[in-house]
Amino acid sequence: MHYYQITLHRSSAPILTYHYDKPLKIGQQIEVPVHSKVKLAMVLDEVEKPEGFETSEILNVLNSYYSSMQIEIAKFISSYYFSSLGEALGLFVPCRSGYPHPDDEKLNSLKDATKDVILDCRGEDTPTYGLPILSDDQKRAYKKLLKKDKALLFGVTGSGKTEVFISLMAKTIAEGKQCIFLMPEISLTPQMQTRLEKYFGKRIVMWHSKLTKKKKEKILEKIYAKEVDIVAGARSALFTPLEEVGLIIVDEEHDDSYKSMMKPRYHARDMAVYMGAKLGAKVVLASATPSLGSYHKYEVVKLTKPFIQTQKKYYFVEGSTLTNGMIKKIDENFRAGEQSLLFVPTRGNFKYLYCTKCGETHTCPYCSVGMALHRYARHLKCHYCNFTEVIREVCSACGHTPLISERMGTVEAKEMIHSSIEDIVIEQFDRDSITTAGKLKKALKRFESKESHLLLGTQMLSKGHDYANITLSVILGMDYILGLGDYRARERAMSLLIQIAGRSGRAKSADVII
Ligand SMILES: [Zn+2]
Ligand SMILES: [Zn+2]
Repeated sequence: MHYYQITLHRSSAPILTYHYDKPLKIGQQIEVPVHSKVKLAMVLDEVEKPEGFETSEILNVLNSYYSSMQIEIAKFISSYYFSSLGEALGLFVPCRSGYPHPDDEKLNSLKDATKDVILDCRGEDTPTYGLPILSDDQKRAYKKLLKKDKALLFGVTGSGKTEVFISLMAKTIAEGKQCIFLMPEISLTPQMQTRLEKYFGKRIVMWHSKLTKKKKEKILEKIYAKEVDIVAGARSALFTPLEEVGLIIVDEEHDDSYKSMMKPRYHARDMAVYMGAKLGAKVVLASATPSLGSYHKYEVVKLTKPFIQTQKKYYFVEGSTLTNGMIKKIDENFRAGEQSLLFVPTRGNFKYLYCTKCGETHTCPYCSVGMALHRYARHLKCHYCNFTEVIREVCSACGHTPLISERMGTVEAKEMIHSSIEDIVIEQFDRDSITTAGKLKKALKRFESKESHLLLGTQMLSKGHDYANITLSVILGMDYILGLGDYRARERAMSLLIQIAGRSGRAKSADVII
């Protein structure tokens, strides 16, 4: 009889001991009885017959397993991000039996010998249009990146980072290795897929949390069968069972969505750097507004010239609401057949309650941040901890009545513009109106074809979509972003400002009103 220590899948339970009559490999996925239920688990180690307690028998041995590298990285995640090994391993997609085992040395050397042959017989799935032609600036950045194990590509908006990525990926694939291309979930658009497929055909797959189980299984089949060179996706793409990763790209590396809000609370950008070192893969972080941390930590390669040189004029206006002057500018721009963008930093129809006498904002008792007023739901809510209470009428600091609310949400801004400018079609761009990928696609399409004239939205506007024809950006409420309860509030405000201003003036000169 053999005895095994096992860890339960995605569970915080401690390590348990079971027995089985046949030898099992470390990393093997199994099913074990826990109380009256059957649970998924993994073999951690073989041990001596335990003394002092009876063990149960392992019920099933599955055809999937974790490689020694996956287990090693999971052990790091579990200690670094304070989670159990079972939770850390739960991030990874296991390998599957029946395909070559990545731990098998003999197979690896055999693979080296056949690499050239594999490259030759890729046939019609290979790039169809050749590689993008790089500008001198891009070429210089590409060559610099080739020499580095890890680096930060700091490229202004519209400077053509993607072409540099494509060149790096093509080089990696030619060496017989695979690439992971991470981007924020919202950038994973059909346009991006088409753009990448143009170069890499069907050997690229998109991986994100909204895939159905069936689609995921289909993609995994391709990965197991070694028909995939590039996995492009949100942070979970980092944990797909690729065999020999040679390049990890983290685009928009400053983006908050790389930080997992569930256990294990890992940061995908930091994990990419760690895994790159472990796997011997090159790591390229990229952003137009890199996080100060990355800028300080990693070698910086710059892309300084935008593809099309345009001019931006900045105007600073005091106050936090939409003024008549701004509406007039939007109107003029609309009459001239141009498109505009309006950024409002709060989502939906919420505001903050504040006292007219002492100026106190009504804050959450637990988080000391302003509580949002939800007009339709008729309550106050803390967007940090979800603490909810009835709408207050009396100031908790000085007892003054009434409290008034301020700050314009997207709903009010929309109403205000509609009442001043006839016929303007507004595309509302926030989490309340863009709830599915389909809605995002439709909204972008309407704006691109100039069916809508004004893009009105929240933080979502700052994420990497290309809007070629915007010549006016109005950015409201920067003071609010600067005053957020976050020690990086200033860094975030600056990043947001640059990203949103960068959405305008892509093709023509533009005005930015702040
Ligand atoms: Zn007061
Ligand atoms: Zn709170």
